Amino acid sequence: MSTSPQSLSRESEELREVLVSLERLRSQEETARREAQQLLSGLQVLINAHSVEEMFKGTLEVISRVVPFENAAVLVQNDDGSLSVQMSTAGDFQFNNLVPGKSFSRVLAGRPVCVMDLDLLPEWTAIAEQISQPYSSALLAPLTTRERRGLLICVHQQRAYFHKRHLKVLEYFVPLAAQALQRSQEIEELEELVKRLDEMAHYDALTGICNRTLFNIILEKTISQHYRHRRCSALLMLDLDNFKRINDTLGHPAGDYLLKEVAQRITSCVRSGDTVARLGGDEFAVLLQDLGDPKETEVIAEKILSRIGMPLNYQGQLIHPSSSIGITIFPDDDSECEQLMKNADMALYASKENGRGSFSFFSLSMRKKIESKISLENQLRRSLEGEGLKLCYQPIYRTSDLSCVGMEALVRMKKRGSGLIGPDRFIPIAEQTGLIFPLGEWVLRTACADLEGWLAEAENSRVAINVSAIQLRDPDFAASVIDTMADLRVPQQSVEIELSEDIIIRESTEWLQKNIEVLYRSGFQIAFDDFGRGYSSLLHLRTFPGKRLKIDRFFVQRMLDSPKDQVIVRSVIDMAHDMGMSVVAEGVETPEQLKSLADFGCDEVQGFLLGRPKPKEKWQFLG
Ligand code: C2E
Ligand code: CA
Ligand code: CA
Repeated sequence: MSTSPQSLSRESEELREVLVSLERLRSQEETARREAQQLLSGLQVLINAHSVEEMFKGTLEVISRVVPFENAAVLVQNDDGSLSVQMSTAGDFQFNNLVPGKSFSRVLAGRPVCVMDLDLLPEWTAIAEQISQPYSSALLAPLTTRERRGLLICVHQQRAYFHKRHLKVLEYFVPLAAQALQRSQEIEELEELVKRLDEMAHYDALTGICNRTLFNIILEKTISQHYRHRRCSALLMLDLDNFKRINDTLGHPAGDYLLKEVAQRITSCVRSGDTVARLGGDEFAVLLQDLGDPKETEVIAEKILSRIGMPLNYQGQLIHPSSSIGITIFPDDDSECEQLMKNADMALYASKENGRGSFSFFSLSMRKKIESKISLENQLRRSLEGEGLKLCYQPIYRTSDLSCVGMEALVRMKKRGSGLIGPDRFIPIAEQTGLIFPLGEWVLRTACADLEGWLAEAENSRVAINVSAIQLRDPDFAASVIDTMADLRVPQQSVEIELSEDIIIRESTEWLQKNIEVLYRSGFQIAFDDFGRGYSSLLHLRTFPGKRLKIDRFFVQRMLDSPKDQVIVRSVIDMAHDMGMSVVAEGVETPEQLKSLADFGCDEVQGFLLGRPKPKEKWQFLG
């Protein structure tokens, strides 16, 4: 088929046009792709922005790559709805509190606009007055996040300068920027939250110092550094004396105030590299790092004790705090976090036992003592659950005819193999752990059950039981004894409750007095045990309701060698009689002692000479 030159040139003309338009299309596509890429890379910048400021700046910068504006600004809506310039690319574009009109409101509501002639925009007059450059056209796009509504404005001096394409760019990009902004605000919030959670996890909310978790982390780290550097550090465990009492009497706000003050006081005694933590309650820990000599710890411990001991005023009330400290040195004492904490705890315990307000260093013998105490405590628990306790009885005799008038019940704990453990070893543990309550009840029940048999043989006999200060201080004690007695078939008059003089003097509290009164009034016999062992016995004798007094064996055993002790024994007997009380002498070991006591007019006697404490089956009642 032949083709004419005319048709050929027409065809090639057409083809050229197609090519040109194709070319144009491709270049548009190319531009679009390039712009898209630039925006994308800009978005990346926004995502990595660290503040809202950076974010806005980045947004304007990115847009400037694609939209050839002369000036651009981010406007943010204030709480009252007006708009203020938050940021602009040229300094002169500044205004505040612009009340948005219809056009701006539409943009704020989410619709971007391209303004060909700014003179036709009602809001512009107000803006134009405040800026120095005359602008004629603009692009407006919403820039809204969850927190704030705002808009972005690009301006140019030339009228009808911006194209639809520019508007498209804003339409696509600004929501993305807003999303990124939103994200960055959320991330900021999240970071703030993480920071707060982190603080909560590692710092004590009340005092602001480290908590146990962080303290353990620091301690672990310090220990591992010691391995490498061969240094020596100290771990101090500190506890306020009688904190509970302050809390109970002055209230929790006072307790909190004291804890905050104590945290500050401890911190003021140590170097900046040392760590002070509150482990919980009124328990604090201090880590003194890199000591030249472990002895330096003593100086710091003393400083802490004296600073904490300074009185403090809480709403007009003067508080006199005091504390005890336990110290362990590492790596000498141990090099394991848990064991070091235990060591310091043991040393603290020892300080408390030494009379509070002091510090003690951990030692191996301390650990052994405490471990044996713990094992005894466990044994006591098991004994109380099973049949591991035993009562022994020591008879009490009338001095005049040596007839048996009663038995004193003395508790023992069975050893695992054979043999018995004496009360002096386990009663203090029972008192510290509260086990004295079930133990006391067991003694009362067992002694009364045994007494039932004896009463059949000698109706006037009595059983004496010992009670401890811890029991007597319990407000419910008297009531619980009376309750227990209701189950038992012996009269209260044949049960005697022995209170050690120590108890009456050291522990004299309102409840102790009340318990004694109630027991006395409900018919129990009450005896003042170990008389003379304390110091101010006479004073307490005045208010003591009991009718029997037991002279401590210390005097009985010395009275024949020491004239002064003999005078004491005789005077006590005479005085007690004058006060209408009868007297028992304890610890009678020789016939000479017995004879003298009879001569002095002592009413009753008890001691190894006449009978050692033995289990019930070894005794025939000797009435
Ligand atoms: P206590 O009440 O002063 O009991 C008398 C202690 O002196 C008993 O020691 C007894 O065995 C001992 N004793 C008696 N006669 C003589 C003597 O002639 N010479 C010497 N050297 N000692 C004599 P035990 O049984 O070891 O009791 C010690 C303490 O344990 C008791 O002192 C009492 O305070 C306490 N205790 C015993 N049983 C109980 C109990 O059930 N509850 C409470 N809370 N404490 C108890
Ligand atoms: Ca006794
Ligand atoms: Ca006694």
